[in-house]
Amino acid sequence: MSTTAQIGVTGLAVMGRNLARNFARNGYTVALHNRTVSKTRELVENFGDEGDFIAAETAKEFVAALERPRRLVIMVKAGDPTDAVIEEFAPLLEPGDMIIDGGNAHFADTRRREKALREQGIHFVGMGVSGGEEGALHGPSIMPGGPKESYDSLGPMLEKISAKAADGAPCVTHIGPDGAGHFVKMVHNGIEYADMQLIGEAYQLLRDVAGYSPAQIADVFRTWNTGRLDSYLIEITAEVLAHVDAATGKPFVDVVVDQAEQKGTGRWTVQIALDLGVPVSGIAEAVFARSLSGHAGLRAASQGLAGPKPTPLSEAEAAAFADRVEQALYASKIVSYTQGFHEIQAGSDEYGWDVDLGAVSSIWRGGCIIRAAFLDRIRAAYDARADLPSLLSDETFAREIAGAQDDWREVVIAATREGVAVPGFSAALAYYDALRAERLPAALTQGQRDFFGAHTYRRVDREGAFHTLWGGDR
Ligand code: NAP
Repeated sequence: MSTTAQIGVTGLAVMGRNLARNFARNGYTVALHNRTVSKTRELVENFGDEGDFIAAETAKEFVAALERPRRLVIMVKAGDPTDAVIEEFAPLLEPGDMIIDGGNAHFADTRRREKALREQGIHFVGMGVSGGEEGALHGPSIMPGGPKESYDSLGPMLEKISAKAADGAPCVTHIGPDGAGHFVKMVHNGIEYADMQLIGEAYQLLRDVAGYSPAQIADVFRTWNTGRLDSYLIEITAEVLAHVDAATGKPFVDVVVDQAEQKGTGRWTVQIALDLGVPVSGIAEAVFARSLSGHAGLRAASQGLAGPKPTPLSEAEAAAFADRVEQALYASKIVSYTQGFHEIQAGSDEYGWDVDLGAVSSIWRGGCIIRAAFLDRIRAAYDARADLPSLLSDETFAREIAGAQDDWREVVIAATREGVAVPGFSAALAYYDALRAERLPAALTQGQRDFFGAHTYRRVDREGAFHTLWGGDR
């Protein structure tokens, strides 16, 4: 039994408890602290034999238990509680000590906290953690920001407890200074929203257009999971769809209220994208789709609205349609990731983080919710060209989308014809077509703005700002 701990965790709800156990299982002595002391005791009672823990009941005891320079992980509810905990501990720390916030903080809060603590000589690491409670215990994907020198001492510990990709590489890297880690975690969650929305749309099309049952759709997803869509989210989707409610014998999806919750990171991804001027339409549609699902009154009031008559498909037609949906899902997924990586690049440029996008794709290959074989391809795209302007400019992705586009268009047409909402698929296709277009109607927008507001416009053939005297007497 050691008398000092290499790391301490305060906040022992599901995430903190499992992260503390993960450190202990990897041979580190872990100091434990929680506002409500009973949780600390419970952890030691239930899991004390998993490793070396030092249970502390007060903040002073906790800080005293940590070897210097201290490494103190905060895993409390994001927002005001994080500030409260920092205020409690910071006065007890010394220059060179490290506070690591593993909660889902907004990156702007992380920047503010990092700046304030830097002035006291304390290293503040805003650390994104993905993988839920299972990931925290068995190996999450970890996105630490903060000062680079903090990674020199913290990195090896994180590398030990993190998930490992199929090639054995640890799913953690120093993302960049101050809020970079939490920013990247935020976009990870935004992409997760988009992935889930696209999968949901595929499910709905297979159900309403192909006429498949949830059990049949589970089989389709299982098949897809053996190919290029191989991913954690596709895998669990098949399980959810195959699940039968014990009480009623009905498919689980049919007994669940169709209103999805959200905690905020998806919304932040879109809000920040708006601030940065980055089109993340797929993520935005995913956030809006959850909002729409929650407007029960609006939906009830819209029940009588007219829609098209369904077209029944033969078995062969349904099977062919399912194949097309796979193409549409894959192509739309490429677009979602293109948009998400664009936002990370824009954030990195705005805040001077110098984020390595290839390294980000690499650490998302294991442990996190969006882990997927697909991320190996993104990694390969950045390996081939580190300054890739967009994932769509990678030859492999461009070729794959070229191969998928006919089916993708057919699926969006079929959804429109049959009256099935596919905001994710169609927004992704619209993004793709807008990028491809040689001329956009933005030229007309410039003219309109100049007409009503003398906002001026730029010309294709001359430098400078121009204004036209519209309609004589204006
Ligand atoms: P949580 O429900 O978000 O937070 C509960 C913990 O916060 C408890 O330990 C609680 O202490 C503590 N707490 C709340 N207010 C406090 C205050 N004012 N002062 C001190 N402690 C306070 O727990 P969680 O689900 O384990 O998540 C922890 C963090 O990880 C959150 O920021 C969350 O967003 C993030 N995260 C969660 C997941 C996930 O899958 N759940 C995944 C990634 C990241 P008491 O026991 O005393 O109430």
